[in-house]
Amino acid sequence: MDRLSAQGAERLMNLHPMWQGPLAVPGGDRQSPIDIVVRKSVLDTELKPLKTTYDPKTCQQIWNNGYSFLVEYDDTTDKNTLKGGPLQDTFRLCQFHFHWGETNDWGSEHTVDRRLFPAELHLVHWNADRYSLFEEAVMEDNGLAVIGVFLKVGKRHEGLQKLVDALPTIRHKDSVVEFTCFDPGCLLPANTDDYWTYHGSLTTPPLTESVTWIVMKQHIEVSHDQLAVFRSLLFTSAEEEVQKSMVNNFRVQQPLRGRTVRSSFTPFLQGAPSAGGSK
Ligand SMILES: [Zn+2]
Repeated sequence: MDRLSAQGAERLMNLHPMWQGPLAVPGGDRQSPIDIVVRKSVLDTELKPLKTTYDPKTCQQIWNNGYSFLVEYDDTTDKNTLKGGPLQDTFRLCQFHFHWGETNDWGSEHTVDRRLFPAELHLVHWNADRYSLFEEAVMEDNGLAVIGVFLKVGKRHEGLQKLVDALPTIRHKDSVVEFTCFDPGCLLPANTDDYWTYHGSLTTPPLTESVTWIVMKQHIEVSHDQLAVFRSLLFTSAEEEVQKSMVNNFRVQQPLRGRTVRSSFTPFLQGAPSAGGSK
């Protein structure tokens, strides 16, 4: 084996199993995540405020799928909906999950002016006006709308704690426990009017380019200890000999390829010349 293929083999061995299948082949020109360059985002005054309606009683279970943990909701009726913002249709919540790093220095999938956050929340909704199932919507244009929220380390998040308390019961891959009465709205920042939006993809296989991304400008705060419980989860099932910590479960950034990131708010330009300064 020459040096190059040896490196390739090593990379494959370090790669999480999810990235080794045929569906993990990179797709087209609208892949996610991306770096949001604030200066290049374009204000769109047509963008409306987001409208979320969530019913905590429709929460069903938490599942360690071997890559993250998914909090899943009953999506057979319009109990949890997202509309407004950049969306024309009504989208239904099916699950939310997080991506995080092994330290507090990185972990988010999206970045803002190259700034990394320790974790990122994704609330996954599918277009219930046009499609009848998540599985159908995921393959289609305009099928999904995902809200992304950055997590920063600071004070303890009271709403998140109920979830954190349940995580030790799903440490291993493939474990599922019943989880009821959780309001996903408690994980949204206080201000949801300010966001960036762009057309992109799922950040896990099948990587389909079916996602309208809505990335919140305002982050939420969680404590270091709460994130430490995320990191105590495992990528591996109980039977596996070598156990692997569930950390760094984010996809590498993808090129923008001519796409425009729109913002619902006037960007505050850090380090930009103040009014009256040269242009
Ligand atoms: Zn995600």
